[in-house]
Amino acid sequence: MIPTKGYAAQSAKDKLAPFSFERREVGPHDVQFEILYCGVCHSDLHQVRNEWRSTIYPIVPGHEIVGKVTKVGAKVKKFKHGDLAGVGCLVDSCRECDNCQKGLEQYCHVGSVGTYNSRDRKNGGITYGGYSNHIVVDESFVLKISDKLPLEKVAPLLCAGITTYSPLRHWKVGKDHKIAIVGLGGLGHMAVKFAAAFGAEVTMLSTSPGKEQDARKLGAHHFALTTDPEHLAALNSKFDFILDTVSAPHDYNKYLKMLNTNGVMICVGIPETPLEIRGFTLLGNRRSIAGSSIGGILETQEMLDYCAEHTITSDVEVIKMSYINEAYERMLKSDVKYRFVIDMSTL
Ligand code: NAP
Ligand code: ZN
Ligand code: ZN
Repeated sequence: MIPTKGYAAQSAKDKLAPFSFERREVGPHDVQFEILYCGVCHSDLHQVRNEWRSTIYPIVPGHEIVGKVTKVGAKVKKFKHGDLAGVGCLVDSCRECDNCQKGLEQYCHVGSVGTYNSRDRKNGGITYGGYSNHIVVDESFVLKISDKLPLEKVAPLLCAGITTYSPLRHWKVGKDHKIAIVGLGGLGHMAVKFAAAFGAEVTMLSTSPGKEQDARKLGAHHFALTTDPEHLAALNSKFDFILDTVSAPHDYNKYLKMLNTNGVMICVGIPETPLEIRGFTLLGNRRSIAGSSIGGILETQEMLDYCAEHTITSDVEVIKMSYINEAYERMLKSDVKYRFVIDMSTL
């Protein structure tokens, strides 16, 4: 086993604190890499605090991981010592079911293995994430990272990037579409960048008046403050798509009304409590509501390559590992511009 240093929470009430654990030895198909940067996703916070009621403690969060390969197994083909590498939310899946065969490992019928808080198919242990100094992952779930972009700005692409890229591609959002993005946080700011790059007319729907200028800089054509009833009334039946990235419980009907005929509201945010949808709001304009979970490995690579080609990265605030508990408090206040990324050399 390989001794590893990280940060973990021991219970839903505990803060994250230094933690030592072991990773499995590098198997024939495994890649080991030193973690240089790890993004801080709101899903980390939800799970550290057991808001989804599925946390196994201790938990080492982190699934926006980039670093440099230090060791490869004898059968590894894609990576060699010194290469840049990335890992997102998945480290394994059954690889045999329909969805795995189609590259939709996130929807594996047997159950995909998350980068943390999951049962490792290889040794039965619990997976530990990227708030740590290194990681060992099967090469099929390790992504190639371009050396053209700053690594700290690439890390958030591994979750915030793919989670917004994938639904925009699935629903073919582009020219001639009007889309609203709800929530300007980690996912929201990537959604604005991608939707604008794909040619859509983008409206940012935010609760934070101070974010208007940033939203426009990120590529939004319009901005509406959702706490202002006048702004809202003007938006009824306006959009073909709405991408809801909000992390906290909120009124979905308020946004659903803004969909035009056959419009689709795509939910990627995962608040602690279930969605409440009013029947009349849904059936008006023959609206649909849908969900989307991260993205498969092939699509994640496609997204990373697209970002390298079009120079798309995340806007980040780099933090020390020891700042993580304050970073969580700020994330809860929507005070992030627009993703915290941990410099893992500070661990
Ligand atoms: P984040 O950086 O904290 O951003 C969330 C944003 O939501 C905030 O910046 C804020 O934007 C808005 N917001 C917060 N509270 C609100 C409220 N009460 N009403 C309306 N808007 C509110 O979080 P994130 O990392 O982007 O993650 C967002 C959500 O997506 C989380 O629930 C996370 O677990 C989930 N997620 C899902 C997937 C997936 O596969 N589907 C993947 C990753 C994350 P404004 O200041 O602009 O209002
Ligand atoms: Zn995430
Ligand atoms: Zn499968």
